[in-house]
Amino acid sequence: VSADGPAPAVAGPAAKDRQFRAGAETRPFQAEVSRMMDIIIHSLYSNKDIFLRELISNAADALDKIRFLSLTDKKQLGEGEDAKLEIRLSIDKDKKMISLRDRGVGMTKEELVNNLGTIAKSGTSAFLEQMQKGGDLNLIGQFGVGFYSVYLVADYVEVVTKHNDDKQYVWESKADGSFAVSEDTQGERLGRGTQINIYLKESAQEYLQEDKLRDLVQRYSEFINFPILMLTTRT
Ligand code: ADP
Ligand code: MG
Repeated sequence: VSADGPAPAVAGPAAKDRQFRAGAETRPFQAEVSRMMDIIIHSLYSNKDIFLRELISNAADALDKIRFLSLTDKKQLGEGEDAKLEIRLSIDKDKKMISLRDRGVGMTKEELVNNLGTIAKSGTSAFLEQMQKGGDLNLIGQFGVGFYSVYLVADYVEVVTKHNDDKQYVWESKADGSFAVSEDTQGERLGRGTQINIYLKESAQEYLQEDKLRDLVQRYSEFINFPILMLTTRT
């Protein structure tokens, strides 16, 4: 199959039919977070590209954190692949999924639950208010809730993460009021860091195009101090 050949007809299950992993703990999002996600996932906002800026900025923040920690505790950085402070973007046309992977600090299970859904940041209600007044979604990062912009393009997202002080966990959500967290015993070992698996909505399949992503990465990497590599896993 050539690099730009048609995607195979068989992909993973549609987002709405996805089941959380067996044994996962399912939790409700904090109410305002849930309302905000509902607005984002149903948004007709045309500049959906911004999700990549937000995720790259989170990856860079996580890389800054591990670099800082390693100044006083060198072993935090690990060795070999783990010590490579970089960001990788990959495209999986079969699964209609793109992934952003960093070798940053990662999140413990507690951080995962608190940061992505249970504890609303002060900016959440302010951002909600702006949205209800027809405010510009582009400003989402300034409200401290940039992560959720991934639901402009995705209807199902997995966040796989490994912090030095904890095991590997996976967070999953369809933005329908709840998320699930479970230990990730099956997936590829991250060593350290975070991988966001973005299962694209039917209306956002354009992000499977390498050229499109490459342009976006160029645009958003200007102030990022870490290399961003691109990989097409399946075509
Ligand atoms: P902000 O970046 O302004 O804090 P976000 O909504 O973008 O807000 O992210 C929420 C939080 O989730 C971050 O503060 C961080 O704790 C956590 N987080 C998101 N992405 C990552 C990542 N790639 N690695 C580690 N932690 C992350
Ligand atoms: Mg952010």
